Amino acid sequence: MSHAVSVLAVHYAEIALKGKNRRMFQRRLRNNLAVALDGEPITAINHIESRFLIRFSDPQRGEAIFEKARRVFGVQWLALGVPIPRRDLDDDLAELRRTAVEIARRDVGDAKTFKIHTRRSDTTFPLTSPEINAIVGADVQQAIGLPAKMSRPDYTLHLLVLREEVLILTGHTTAFGGLPVGSSGRVMVLLSGGIDSPVAAWMMMKRGCRPEFIHFYSGRSVEEADTAKIEQLARVLQGFSPTPLTLHLVAAFPYESRAIGVVEDSYDMVLFRRYMFKTAERLARRESCLALVAGDSVGQVASQTLHNLAAIGSDIKLPVMRPLVGLDKLEITALSRKMGAYEASILPYRDCCSIRSPRPVLNARAYQLLELSEKIDLDAAVAEALETAVCLKIDARGDAPETSEETPA
Ligand code: ATP
Ligand code: MG
Repeated sequence: MSHAVSVLAVHYAEIALKGKNRRMFQRRLRNNLAVALDGEPITAINHIESRFLIRFSDPQRGEAIFEKARRVFGVQWLALGVPIPRRDLDDDLAELRRTAVEIARRDVGDAKTFKIHTRRSDTTFPLTSPEINAIVGADVQQAIGLPAKMSRPDYTLHLLVLREEVLILTGHTTAFGGLPVGSSGRVMVLLSGGIDSPVAAWMMMKRGCRPEFIHFYSGRSVEEADTAKIEQLARVLQGFSPTPLTLHLVAAFPYESRAIGVVEDSYDMVLFRRYMFKTAERLARRESCLALVAGDSVGQVASQTLHNLAAIGSDIKLPVMRPLVGLDKLEITALSRKMGAYEASILPYRDCCSIRSPRPVLNARAYQLLELSEKIDLDAAVAEALETAVCLKIDARGDAPETSEETPA
């Protein structure tokens, strides 16, 4: 091919609707793209209307650059571009027509219909968009022998007319949308080894939040608990973040040692959840997180009845975000596959919730949990939990994680 892929066009949508803060979001998105593409042969990132044009020097890296940018929240859709310089193009469209045909031939697959869609970002170009569509469309039609269809064609070839060049876009793909991570503040995510909470974390990251993770392990020590699976899940989520993330590993033991023989089986699960939320809230305040995030879905399991959710959180002051409340398991599983955590989520793991009595009360009352908390001195359990917590840095580059003892709250 005479012209090679050397541009990635990255469009944003929601950010474009922002008012006074728009520039902050644009800067953040640009920064997150630059970080995601660190190490790639990027030569420029230009901002034109509601898109970034990312230029690179090695066409072989196009697909890799595309994949990395696709995971950046705030990106609505993206496509690789073959630039045709406009030097002579204003007089002679031959080069554009020839390249468009080559690309259409390669990309059309088993499509039955096609169309050309042109956007003129620069209106000094001597032809209008419909005129360009007609000219290039006729060539492509002749070359690939398919009828053009204006509404919902199987294949669309996008052309973008800029001041200095026309981009022929290929592999136009919808990305995740949302807001760039870091634009909305920090949250503390209660991360379990299941399917739900990684999805909940991902959804909050998609709203621009920077997560920290807290996980409660069973057993006497982190080594005994073997939290490799939790680290793996955190690493999947880190793949959507421009910075390393922190995972706090906290023992269930301070609760268990006080509850055993005192708390009835039926209240154990709900009281344990209260312990998790109280501990997470303390840690969240220390780490300047503005909200807690959990993967509950109303009614999914007995501990998630409305009564129980209300009683567990009765004296939690930080907002508790539950982005999955209204989703069913099939919807959550589909999201888990889409974000890439599913394979890790279904690995076997002995979660401290799965070893508790499976028949909790369905309608615990806040006062009952408060009384039980007093009885076992839940505050002391929380303090002990924080003192013995271990903090891991989850880094993109897959280095062995650094471990450090938490500083006391
Ligand atoms: P599953 O996919 O098995 O439902 P889950 O993560 O939703 O996994 P649940 O037992 O439904 O597990 O717990 C509800 C929520 O409570 C979780 O989404 C998570 O936010 C929090 N949670 C449960 N267990 C833990 C844990 N060991 N550490 C931290 N948070 C936990
Ligand atoms: Mg669940």
